[in-house]
Amino acid sequence: MNILVTNDDGILAPALRALRSELAALGRVVVVAPDRDQSATSHSLTLHRPFRIHRHEADIYSVDGTPTDCVVCAWYGLLEAPPDLVISGINHGPNMGEDVFYSGTVAAAIEGAMQGSPALSVSLATRELTDFVAPASFVARLARRVMERGLPRRRLLNVNIPFRPWEEIRGVAVTTLGSRVYRDTLVRKVDPRGRDYYWIGGEDPVWDPREGTDFNAVHEGWISVTPLKLDLTDEPAVDTVQEWNLQK
Ligand code: MN
Repeated sequence: MNILVTNDDGILAPALRALRSELAALGRVVVVAPDRDQSATSHSLTLHRPFRIHRHEADIYSVDGTPTDCVVCAWYGLLEAPPDLVISGINHGPNMGEDVFYSGTVAAAIEGAMQGSPALSVSLATRELTDFVAPASFVARLARRVMERGLPRRRLLNVNIPFRPWEEIRGVAVTTLGSRVYRDTLVRKVDPRGRDYYWIGGEDPVWDPREGTDFNAVHEGWISVTPLKLDLTDEPAVDTVQEWNLQK
């Protein structure tokens, strides 16, 4: 089995090493990751400049591009055959609710699913220093299950792991995407030359605590597994908008 591992935290992220060693028992693991932190780059693709791929050692590559570039490169040249599984992560920080739209981690898994592989995006809900070993070993067990059961086309699993001693994790909950309470602000400052500059800021995200959501599960100490699909069509709204009788 060929597993493609990527992330958005960059090739130096310690999670990659942990993941690579835990996945080794499942098959060949090829790491193709951005050469630097590309968090919150979402699904962007590098189209307006050339980029380079650096081979660090056998089956480890960095790309001076985005997580999506990494998956595209792997599919269209770096690997001899399409990967049997794409794993993106383990991200250093959660990717829940609407954050899946900003996340480079989730975008890379979405790209894998778009290209036709089963795909997982995995995040650890902390920004504290940690070794990722127990989470990586869970990912390996989950990866094995995904390979046994398969995933339907254009589907992926978005996984968020709570940050606490492994024995205090209560189990695995299959969840829906939660919802953030947005309190972002645009902070305007003035630079030394008298010109305005801006920061998108705000306090730490606050979540709607609804039961059954990824946020609620992680908050309560469960590993959250959210099945995602790429088709964003709002099916009931197709009929509703139809009734508007739009004219050209
Ligand atoms: Mn990240």
